[in-house]
Amino acid sequence: MNHTIALAGNPNSGKTTMFNQLTGSAQYVGNWPGVTVEKKEGRLKSDKESIIQDLPGIYSLSPYTLEEVVSRTYLIEQRPEAIINVIDASNLERNLYLTTQLAELGVPMVLALNMMDTVKKRGQSINKEKLGRMLGCDAVFTAAVHAEGMEEVAQKAKEAATSGRLPKTASFSSPVENALQRISALIQDAADETYLRWLSIKLFERDEKVMSGLDFSETAKNQLEAIIAECEAAMDDDSESIITSERYQYIAGIMGECVQKGREQLTAVSDRIDTVVTNRILALPIFAFVMWLVYFISMATVGTMGTDWVNDVLFADIVAGTVDAVLGALGISGMLASLIQDGIVAGAGAVLGFLPQMMVLFFCLAILEDCGYMARIAFIMDRMFRRFGLSGKSFIPMLVAIGCGVPGVMASRTIENERDRKLTIMTTTFMPCGAKLPIIALIAGALFDGSPAVAASAYFVGIAAIVCSGIILKKMKTFAGEPAPFVMELPAYHIPSGRNVLLHMWDKAKSFVRRAGVIILPATILVWFLSTFSWSLSTVEDTADSILASVGNLIAPLFAPLGWGDWQSAVAAFTGLIAKENVVGTFGVLFEYAGELSEDGTEIWSTLAAAFTPAAGYSFLVFNLLCAPCFAAIGAIKREMGSAKWTMIAVGYQCLLAYVAAMWVYQFGRLLSGEGFSTGTAVAATTLLGFLYLLLRPAQSCEKKQLCRAGKVSEAR
Ligand code: GDP
Ligand code: MG
Repeated sequence: MNHTIALAGNPNSGKTTMFNQLTGSAQYVGNWPGVTVEKKEGRLKSDKESIIQDLPGIYSLSPYTLEEVVSRTYLIEQRPEAIINVIDASNLERNLYLTTQLAELGVPMVLALNMMDTVKKRGQSINKEKLGRMLGCDAVFTAAVHAEGMEEVAQKAKEAATSGRLPKTASFSSPVENALQRISALIQDAADETYLRWLSIKLFERDEKVMSGLDFSETAKNQLEAIIAECEAAMDDDSESIITSERYQYIAGIMGECVQKGREQLTAVSDRIDTVVTNRILALPIFAFVMWLVYFISMATVGTMGTDWVNDVLFADIVAGTVDAVLGALGISGMLASLIQDGIVAGAGAVLGFLPQMMVLFFCLAILEDCGYMARIAFIMDRMFRRFGLSGKSFIPMLVAIGCGVPGVMASRTIENERDRKLTIMTTTFMPCGAKLPIIALIAGALFDGSPAVAASAYFVGIAAIVCSGIILKKMKTFAGEPAPFVMELPAYHIPSGRNVLLHMWDKAKSFVRRAGVIILPATILVWFLSTFSWSLSTVEDTADSILASVGNLIAPLFAPLGWGDWQSAVAAFTGLIAKENVVGTFGVLFEYAGELSEDGTEIWSTLAAAFTPAAGYSFLVFNLLCAPCFAAIGAIKREMGSAKWTMIAVGYQCLLAYVAAMWVYQFGRLLSGEGFSTGTAVAATTLLGFLYLLLRPAQSCEKKQLCRAGKVSEAR
């Protein structure tokens, strides 16, 4: 039999893990129509006729977030034949809140009590038979990561679809039930019987979307409002809160009947870890240490051994040697040989040389993600951001942007408040994305002895840029206003699953290599071409006579105050617009072509070390971290801002901030290394003062002004 089954549940309840288990490799990934929320569809492994739909994670069916709207529109309009409600059974009470709402939709349902392994470890027990009886549907124990209970869930879901048995809806206290009865009577003729309960409750909650979907007369509207108002007066609360507390009361009854509390050992351990890790004072130093450790492992030790081998042995000897031999054997020489050796091998090789480091890094980050530490970082940042008047919600896009700025910018869609969303879009790409890592590794390796502190500091530069921008921009009228509230549940820490971590690493590594082939390669070929030919299209002896050099020389003076006014660096920073890895690829081509040192594999590093002082190197790094992101991310900014003007404002702001920040680094770095005061120092000091003024001046909002005035008046008296 062919069925359509939807997977619904809270974020982090294990939906995606279960979806992968149920569907195997038969998946289709796309977007929900019109929005950028991911849509995943697949076929049941055990029954290719049945389609499974993974819905976005939600805590409720209210109409406030994009995920909620997407999920409920799907459930109401597409009407799947059954819902598998994935429940984090170790957080049963909170998860049942959604369950009570799903039960009202008039769709057959199965409860997948997931994370049962955790529940058992805690010594808790859940009576699934009783739970199933109370909720009017089957309940199955599962542990999606261990593939336990998957067959049974699929089977029960198909049974539910076939039988069409509807779950029981929550019953509320009599004044509420009475109001709901009267609302049902009002809409009875206009609405579908099967989800009358859902509609009545939503109307009681004054849900605008449901309200506008029904064809209501003015009289009916007034009657409805009268019913709601009467109940609100009787219960002394607003209708939405009434329903929420009624639901929790109903759930409390179920919990009392079906759950036996255990030793709570695991939670206790998790909580004890959290008192340290999310401690107000220790949280940031611990975060800094963790980041330092990650980079110590990936860049300074394990990863470097791999990278050294790739650079010194694989590329310098084996690949270059083989390519030489093959070219020689084929009798290829001159231009084509140069293109292959100096363009492709040198450029793409410079980027690919970082692959081992990247793999180790992705591995470490995947572990942090999987064990639950990343969620803590979001929590810590939320607290910090809110103190500065920024929305904690902004941190989710930034967390995503650590991987790639494009989905990071897109993730800003969950922020309803338009000003906060714009502000988040403008600042999200300050986070060092995966493509910027080779730049970090290059600068750290060439100028700072591979110190992991350089890499860790890159994250703090990103966060500082975001926080400072937030404070400065929030003080402008365009962005003023209270930040949106953000609630987040911290999952218990757990041992990361090897499979998840490896899959994650593999995915990232694949896309790193793919980008090197698809985006970086053409760009390095272009750089090779422009650095090999002169304007009259004849080959040049010295790259300094090339097209690229003449263009580079034109823009280079712009960067002289930042400490890297040579044309190669200017060109490298520019090619970063295509993709940030290009910065390294460009150095690869330009320095390889310079050719004097190409005996060992680290000639880029030594050439770079000779060209840059540490202050100039770090300034180059800061500029590239903060300046306009790659074209793909600028495109995402344009899409999300929906306005060319705002895109220009965003990119302009990023470049400006990058420029002054890099200038401070270089100019003050020079001063500190005893090079004396110069015009540059004066300019840097002036801009820094201006920046500090914008940062520290009092807020511009009208309420604040009035408050100040009021305060002054009372003081004067
Ligand atoms: P989603 O947000 O609902 O899609 O949840 P995911 O499938 O991404 O899972 C969230 C986290 O819970 C991941 O780290 C999974 O490895 C983990 N997880 C999923 N199912 C189980 C389970 O049955 N037991 C345990 N202990 N962890 C699980
Ligand atoms: Mg998921």
